Amino acid sequence: MMAKATVQIQESRLRQDLLDLARFGEDPGRGITRTALNDADLAARQWFKERMREAGLKVHEDAAANLIGRIDPAAGPTDRPCIATGSHIDTVVQGGKFDGALGICTSLEALRAIRESGFALPCPLELLVFTDEEGGHFAGTFGSRAMFNLLQEGEMEKSRGAGMSSLAQDLKRMGKDPQKIYQGIRSPSEFRAFLEVHIEQGPVLESMDIPIGIVEGIVHLGRYLIQVEGKAGHAGTTPMHLRDDALVKAAEIITAVNEAVRSGGPEIVGTIGEIGVHPGVINVIPGEVEMALDLRSMKEATLASVKKKIDEIVHSTDNAKIETILTKGGVKMDPGIMEAIELSCRQRGIPFHRMWSGAGHDAMTFPTQHIPTGMIFVPCVGGESHCPNEDIRFEDAATGAQVLADTVVRLALQEFLHPPP
Ligand SMILES: [Zn+2]
Repeated sequence: MMAKATVQIQESRLRQDLLDLARFGEDPGRGITRTALNDADLAARQWFKERMREAGLKVHEDAAANLIGRIDPAAGPTDRPCIATGSHIDTVVQGGKFDGALGICTSLEALRAIRESGFALPCPLELLVFTDEEGGHFAGTFGSRAMFNLLQEGEMEKSRGAGMSSLAQDLKRMGKDPQKIYQGIRSPSEFRAFLEVHIEQGPVLESMDIPIGIVEGIVHLGRYLIQVEGKAGHAGTTPMHLRDDALVKAAEIITAVNEAVRSGGPEIVGTIGEIGVHPGVINVIPGEVEMALDLRSMKEATLASVKKKIDEIVHSTDNAKIETILTKGGVKMDPGIMEAIELSCRQRGIPFHRMWSGAGHDAMTFPTQHIPTGMIFVPCVGGESHCPNEDIRFEDAATGAQVLADTVVRLALQEFLHPPP
């Protein structure tokens, strides 16, 4: 057995990178607006390319504008599958400093520390910075899906709202040809593993006072539209007993849906977060209501059984119906990678907690390609994310970077000891 390299990350350096990156797109009091390929994003990418080069990585940008930094092994063949780590650099409108940014900065620090340690790499390492994870143009996880040829027909030409640029337009603005997006497609066989560090975006780790979450999978998701019809009428002249108020019926549905989701236990969450009332004026009884329901669960069966209860609630209400907008299957992280992350925590006495992710990430794309994937969560203050208040503790970020670095080395050694056939 080869002696294990000691890799030590530096918290001060990681902290400086996070603070420097947070300046791109900063609007004081309104968080960070670094939506994919806007001016702030382009400037941030330029800055990050320089940081990767300084750290000794070979850098290139693919046809989907993903940034790829690579370290080839000093010893051994360079065509072995790589261990990749990364996340995204874009934010939502008025987002926070750490969603995505934590993943790319911890990856940079981990690779920098591994390089400095003198560890003789048995396989290449890659740092991946994905384009438009947040869906600023149309759909999310654009860069990672482009990398594995998973884009939908015409999706680059669509934009999220009127007057907003499409990805195709913004790629052209950068001097890229959207027609040649295929040039960036990679074969899954080029990857031994993918690891992503991310802020938790929820309150669980902080409430347990645990610095590391080992993600077991990303939840199943269902989105539904509930429509309730009533009868519009004059708010002054229609007696209460002769009314069919769509909003009153909708309110009962909202309360009952909340109870149905709660009855499903801790494995499921459900939210009605969008509601439209028609005609929506103060002196008219609401004639029609539309509501959007978002259900997420780590267990498909739980999601299905709660959805069945919700169907019954809706169908027992006069003139109400529910239809499915979209469903997305969950993904499972690789047991071997989870084990490697866990061993890295144990070796340094770092407390960890296994958990599911309620949010989607680029790390969802890799399991669909049968690439062993793992995610490391770091707590965020107050569980807040996608908002200007998003915050972390730098010592937790450093712990995440250290666990990432140790896990990369652990997987690289496994790769070396058991080379692929
Ligand atoms: Zn993110």
